[in-house]
Amino acid sequence: MESKLPKKMRAVVLHGPGDYRLEEVPVPCAGKEEIIVKVIAAGICAGDVKCWKGTEMFWGEKGYANPPAIAGHEFIGEVVELGEGAAEKHGVKIGELAISEQIVPCGECRFCKSGKYWQCFVHDIYGFRKQLNGGMAEYIKYPARSVTHKVPGSIDRIQAALIEPLACSIHAVDRGNIGSEDVVVIAGCGTLGLGMVGAARLKNPGKLIAVDVQDLRLEIAKYMGADLTLNPRKEDVIKKVLDMTGGYGCDVYVEASGHPSAVKQGLQMIRRLGTFVEFGVFAGETSVDWTVIGDGKELDIRGSHLGPGTYPAAIDCINTQKIKTDKIITHRLPLEKFKEGFELMAHGEGIKIVLVP
Ligand SMILES: [Zn+2]
Ligand SMILES: [Zn+2]
Repeated sequence: MESKLPKKMRAVVLHGPGDYRLEEVPVPCAGKEEIIVKVIAAGICAGDVKCWKGTEMFWGEKGYANPPAIAGHEFIGEVVELGEGAAEKHGVKIGELAISEQIVPCGECRFCKSGKYWQCFVHDIYGFRKQLNGGMAEYIKYPARSVTHKVPGSIDRIQAALIEPLACSIHAVDRGNIGSEDVVVIAGCGTLGLGMVGAARLKNPGKLIAVDVQDLRLEIAKYMGADLTLNPRKEDVIKKVLDMTGGYGCDVYVEASGHPSAVKQGLQMIRRLGTFVEFGVFAGETSVDWTVIGDGKELDIRGSHLGPGTYPAAIDCINTQKIKTDKIITHRLPLEKFKEGFELMAHGEGIKIVLVP
């Protein structure tokens, strides 16, 4: 099939730690069951910044990165080319909006075969390895194995770049098994934590508390449904939560800051038999007294990774604004200014920064 697309496009290509370049690269073309999407927007994730900064998890001996690769796993775009059988397989047409889940399952490993595709042993996520280019480009290819969803045309086209992070937020909140009388604490109000505030609001908990060191973020958390916001730079948040709960502590604690102090804080403010959800990605190791988990409080510690099965809900919540995501994107930059975007993220300025090719 002859492609009608241009031959070349601009893309942010990662070559090594601190070495990301805006380059001219070939536009991908759609093979069997593959989709080519024209990118509308691509978000910069804290994970992208960690990779750019050269952290161990990406560049160490068993590091995840495998350059060169086009960066970006938080993208939204419009279908412009369909390979043979792709329309039928993925349920999308030319001109429609479509998103692929950030992980492309291998389909062969033990986890994929048992339906636990988000834990795929191969673990190909867009934007870090040369075998799977990401969305910080004018075009992106969704492979045959991708888990692709159609996105309604009525959605805000830029906010649709929040589908990926919101799907992760919804999964983390689901992991917390929130009950209607629970006091829930979300620690960290970046894009992910704010999405969790919105998702937790929909569970109607007894009290929803958002914690962050930046007041701007706490204001948005309130707008998105937090009953109460606390800033640990200004007050003793552990004492506040204990006082509020008759000394027992919160029922569910979700760690979404990736900062070691938020883990310690959580273990102190959670009640006995409470549920602690760990979502954050840390730059290094965190040490805590594990006695609290067993002998101290018999806690349920639950990890959370990606957004399995939660993309349809994330799409709906943004499209209908059931979750008020309209204040999360604070910066839109052209691809050329990607470095500025990475710097802003690294300095914790703004909340979600999206690149608009
Ligand atoms: Zn991400
Ligand atoms: Zn697999």
